[in-house]
Amino acid sequence: MKTVFEKSVPGREGCWPEEPKSKIEDFIPADLLREGAGMPSLSELDVVRHFTQLSQKNFGVDSNFYPLGSCTMKYNPKFTEQVAAMPGFAKLHPVIPQLKGAGHHCQGALEVIHETESLLSELTGMAAFTMHPMAGAHGELTGVMLMAAYHRDKGNKKTKIVCPDSAHGTNPASAAVAGYDVVSVESKDGIITPEALAEVLDDEVAGVMMTCPNTLGLFETHLPELVKMIHEKDALLYYDGANMNAIMGKLRVGDAGFDIVHLNLHKTLGTPHGGGGPGSGPVGVSERVKPFLPVSRVEKLEDGQYYLSYDEPKSIGYVAPFYGNFGVYLKAYAYMLRLGREGLTRATEGAVLSANYMRKRLENHYEIPYNRICMHEFVASAVEQAKNGVRALDVAKALLDKGHHAPTIYFPLIVKECLMIEPTETENKETIDRFIDDLIEIAEMAEKNPEVLQAAPVTTSVKRLDETKAARSMVITDDVK
Ligand SMILES: *Cc1c(COP(=O)(O)O)cnc(C)c1O
Repeated sequence: MKTVFEKSVPGREGCWPEEPKSKIEDFIPADLLREGAGMPSLSELDVVRHFTQLSQKNFGVDSNFYPLGSCTMKYNPKFTEQVAAMPGFAKLHPVIPQLKGAGHHCQGALEVIHETESLLSELTGMAAFTMHPMAGAHGELTGVMLMAAYHRDKGNKKTKIVCPDSAHGTNPASAAVAGYDVVSVESKDGIITPEALAEVLDDEVAGVMMTCPNTLGLFETHLPELVKMIHEKDALLYYDGANMNAIMGKLRVGDAGFDIVHLNLHKTLGTPHGGGGPGSGPVGVSERVKPFLPVSRVEKLEDGQYYLSYDEPKSIGYVAPFYGNFGVYLKAYAYMLRLGREGLTRATEGAVLSANYMRKRLENHYEIPYNRICMHEFVASAVEQAKNGVRALDVAKALLDKGHHAPTIYFPLIVKECLMIEPTETENKETIDRFIDDLIEIAEMAEKNPEVLQAAPVTTSVKRLDETKAARSMVITDDVK
């Protein structure tokens, strides 16, 4: 597709503004004036078509199914956007005076922060939350910094953080950025066993980062024993709650013994995910980690007014400018109030049901390495198809031709030819069935006609790329005719 500049025709105009009463030359010296702004010359219709066609090349949840594992690409209802756009919130200046008498225009916003923190604390069973972190990985880094502050305060000398081999890459990355040595614990049949943990758990371990259900979609059934072992070493237990629609309303991680948790509001709670943000990764903590939370904290005075407290002597300090991504957690607040306890629980049930339905229907067509009840997602493997030269990558590309987004592939690393599928609670049965039927057709094609799959996609605007060539001789330009 041509750029809007290439479509430009000299002299063509979109509108005829009135002759201005005064000229720009009257205000700006002639030697500072540009000759034209280099804008394209097009009619209004040219511009409308151009951008409409561009937008139609976009793939998103609003247009099609997007079962990208560990990403929770679910549909987030539009009413949350309307709430976030309300002028009383959207136009607030972040340093507006807080208390009554001084203006108090932000009391409502402070109340939203306070209430969102307490709803999230209730949902997860944690003592307190901070809304500051602006993404999942940012929440993890904040969490690891909290661990460090906790141990420093107690005089503990700890140098390591343990992550399972199925962990999302951001877990070891966050631990490393915070200055810890990362130790991997090997899963057995998809989960962490007390024996495997015992091999790596020593007095140097500051904390263990867990995702439960893990990225294989499996619940860590040894959890109570693992929690006990970890706490015996005075290590902290971190919960990666990016995909909370697996357990929301069913298990409170605080009750299960976790000390720190981050949530991805842009996956689970009312904000679309992808496209580069903005996101929000609030962090919840148990009572013993609470003193170290970032500043500021929203506190409530006896007369019911809210204010920002900076008087937190043990705080790790700032992790974000102002108070994080206010618009995003405002959406989460609206979403939680609208769904209520029952609705949030049903969201979890829907996500888990969809994943299990899909796993069952696919089990005779693809290898399912851990074929037992899963949570919000499951992994399939294209090892059988690979015998005919059709790899997970080819299956993913073939799905594009059928109008679906591909699942996550080759992750987690411990599964060969991995396809990690997360249907989410928002898709109806017809959509899920169509995706399954297409995957089954692809499996049949892999036996009969593997070359077709190796050439996919053929219907998309960008066809199969030679990935080696793309990496070795990069062409970085917008001139892609
Ligand atoms: C998405 C995800 C993250 C990272 O979240 P970002 O907001 O992308 O930084 C961390 N852990 C898990 C399990 C995830 O799925």
